[in-house]
Amino acid sequence: KFMTKEEIKARVAEENVEFIRVTFTDVLGTIKNVEVPTSQLDKVLNNDLMFDGSSIEGFVRINESDMYLYPDLSTFLIFPWATDGHGGKVARLIADVYNKDRTPFAGDPRIALKKAVKHAQKQGFTEFNIGPEPEFFLFKLDEEGKPTMELNDHGSYFDLAPLDRGEDVRREIVLTLEKMGFEVEAAHHEVAAGQHEVDFRYDDVLDAADKIQTFKLVVKTIARENGYYATFMPKPISGINGSGMHINMSLFNENGNAFAGQDDDYLGLSDTALNFLGGVLKHAPALTAIANPTVNSYKRLTPGFEAPVYIAWSASNRSPMVRVPASRGLATRLELRTVDPTTNPYTCLAAILSAGLDGIEQHLEPTASVDKNIYLMDENERKKAGIKNLPDTLLDALEELEEDNVIIDAIGTHIIDKFTEAKRIEYTSYRQYVSKWELDNYFMNY
Ligand code: ADP
Ligand code: MG
Ligand code: MG
Ligand code: MG
Ligand code: MG
Repeated sequence: KFMTKEEIKARVAEENVEFIRVTFTDVLGTIKNVEVPTSQLDKVLNNDLMFDGSSIEGFVRINESDMYLYPDLSTFLIFPWATDGHGGKVARLIADVYNKDRTPFAGDPRIALKKAVKHAQKQGFTEFNIGPEPEFFLFKLDEEGKPTMELNDHGSYFDLAPLDRGEDVRREIVLTLEKMGFEVEAAHHEVAAGQHEVDFRYDDVLDAADKIQTFKLVVKTIARENGYYATFMPKPISGINGSGMHINMSLFNENGNAFAGQDDDYLGLSDTALNFLGGVLKHAPALTAIANPTVNSYKRLTPGFEAPVYIAWSASNRSPMVRVPASRGLATRLELRTVDPTTNPYTCLAAILSAGLDGIEQHLEPTASVDKNIYLMDENERKKAGIKNLPDTLLDALEELEEDNVIIDAIGTHIIDKFTEAKRIEYTSYRQYVSKWELDNYFMNY
């Protein structure tokens, strides 16, 4: 997939590309871009494109604001949708952010993920494979193109048309993704009305993180073209399932899937897999702040809606935080079910990888697996089984993150400080807001 500068220039000329969009992700997970006309392509390819870092959330102060974008040439693609009336196309490149003195910028989440990948390579792993399962809701747009709270259908899990009117939009999303190099394995209606899931084949972690960002852009773009608004907000409607982004993961080495054990191993899992799991469970509270970074994330992590609430794992049921899917061999994997699509995929995957690698280094054994439905256990039974709760607010999760040096070291203090500062402000603003629920419950009673 790697392209040389010359190959990129040739494609740009052949395909009548008029603009080059160089994108990166800020600390909070938002995609940013600098768009230049194709006349500037040489500058872009030679790492000479500058931008003002002080205008980006969590980046740098005004007095150190000039930064460079170093595009990753393997991420070149031409957007398959029309952008204007005269046939000109837009291409994109995903970039790493460099300081004015041409050193890698410590506040770039993509660079943090690359650092975690190096750590895994030092332990002999060649790939950290990630298969994400992002979910989203489709709402109708009104005549002025503004999103409404009206869902696009009343369908449910695996329902077929005509109930599932999201099907046409979803099909177009899938076709667009395929044009952009995604291998879509499945796309289906989810449990809630208006809710959908698209699963694409696993990739090595950096590619997977880039794909998650591209995926969100594609879903939002195609939805809008069809008169819908796509949201990745975890819990847009109370009382029905929220949207998660399960993360399927496995470490590979030169011999193949390092999570796959021998037939007589416990659950057919290798020690590598069990220790990785031990690390993920140990660091779960801190991971939650990164995997579930909004106030709204915690409204999804509540009992009764298929989302995890407890720090536990199982090979036999779907309720816990980590599930071991039944497939073995190449598909042996762990599925982390807490993550939601508001996460920054770069820092999230860096944090998960570092948690798992810590488990491998420290030979951490996972707690006993829980094969009962945890939601049917009472608090005492859970206590006896050693099952702890996940943090239940953003504030609790942030406090856990601030105490976890493995995760802090993995992502770097620059990003963690900017992230926790912004998120504490977000939490305080939420805490000060008087909601409809409070008025409904207190106004007439006091
Ligand atoms: P679920 O049963 O939870 O709905 P899906 O079938 O929707 O799971 O998604 C499974 C995901 O796991 C896919 O993205 C798939 O490519 C991915 N996957 C398969 N094998 C591996 C592996 N070895 N490592 C990581 N991900 C994998
Ligand atoms: Mg799925
Ligand atoms: Mg499935
Ligand atoms: Mg799902
Ligand atoms: Mg799943």
